[in-house]
Amino acid sequence: MGRTMTGKQLITLYVAVLVAFAGPSVAQTAQSDDVVRPVGRAPTQTVVSAVAPEEGEDETERREDGSDAGLQDWLVEFRSRALANGVDDMQLLNAGEAAAMEPQLHCLAALHSPSTGIIDSHALMLSLLGEGERHGAMLATRSPVTGITRDSASGIFTVNVGGETAMSLTTLRVINAAGHGACTLAAPLLAAGSQPAVTPVLSKGNYFRLSGKAPFSRLVYPVPEAGGLGVHITIDLGGQARFGPDVEPISEENYIVDPSRSADFYAAVRSYWPGLPDDSLAPDYAGIRPKIRVGGALYPDFLIQSQSEHGLPGLINLFGIESPGLTACLAIASEVNRLLPH
Ligand SMILES: Cc1cc2nc3c(=O)[nH]c(=O)nc-3n(C[C@H](O)[C@H](O)[C@H](O)COP(=O)(O)OP(=O)(O)OC[C@H]3O[C@@H](n4cnc5c(N)ncnc54)[C@H](O)[C@@H]3O)c2cc1C
Repeated sequence: MGRTMTGKQLITLYVAVLVAFAGPSVAQTAQSDDVVRPVGRAPTQTVVSAVAPEEGEDETERREDGSDAGLQDWLVEFRSRALANGVDDMQLLNAGEAAAMEPQLHCLAALHSPSTGIIDSHALMLSLLGEGERHGAMLATRSPVTGITRDSASGIFTVNVGGETAMSLTTLRVINAAGHGACTLAAPLLAAGSQPAVTPVLSKGNYFRLSGKAPFSRLVYPVPEAGGLGVHITIDLGGQARFGPDVEPISEENYIVDPSRSADFYAAVRSYWPGLPDDSLAPDYAGIRPKIRVGGALYPDFLIQSQSEHGLPGLINLFGIESPGLTACLAIASEVNRLLPH
């Protein structure tokens, strides 16, 4: 960020982090499971799935599709992908070994991931903010970006900011990391280019919390379903167990959890925890994954766009940063740094 004009003042800034709401840790980041996974579910070996493992809790993967051979193949393939991404501690378990670790778990086979962990995402945001501020960055909350234009002769971007004190910033670099707002902000800048349009797709994930004690001491994930990780159990740092997220396609943002979805939750959870008591699940919260379409087709991964894709020096667009974006946040930042002109 170069210079910023507020009224008659001319201030020099290094980096301005503009967020629409009251704090740094809102939107998806506040809705996440806070799970730091050693393997993402990104289907390709991209930088964002090649994240180093963190220390912490365990994760057990299981599948129950009636096909033991298919299951073993899937687990072996999953472990190979983890290994290719630098995660070398995943162990294949048969049903007996899995039951010895988690007596209430019902499965045919499992993968044990000792290096999956739970973190406090809000504390992580504050820590990153502190580090950024020590290096000259500034966070401006309640500062919704209403539009970005670029002067093609000079390459300078003008970032229009609304809120109580509307202003315009001029800069040679823009990192568009606006989550659900990223496609809308980028669209006018990309309109003149020839690359396929990137459009947002909202995929809601609902959670139900468990009344009573968690049945497992580890996080337990079923094999992923289309569009999501499968209804798994997460246990937060306070010990509260919840199940989710499911996959609910929506056309407009809403965060209401429909209690009638509980029937599907009981069925999904009982496939790996038959002991789930009746009337023990209550609607909890929902999050929305910012999926994307590229040229009309659902895009299965993060999309980090730089000059080589859109031809505009200094502009980085982060599209489709859904799960495991929290796990991958430092790797994404490194990639952005690598792509920015220095
Ligand atoms: C239900 C759910 C569970 C998840 N669980 C996990 C998990 O366990 N582990 C994991 O690794 N990942 C998980 N994720 C993914 C992870 O939460 C996200 O990838 C990550 O939080 C994305 O961070 P972000 O900063 O890109 O986006 P966001 O957290 O969505 O932040 C976007 C920011 O942009 C701001 N903004 C938007 N528009 C504008 C505008 N016009 N002007 C100014 N500011 C704007 C918003 O105010 C917000 O601050 C989960 C996601 C969901 C939805």
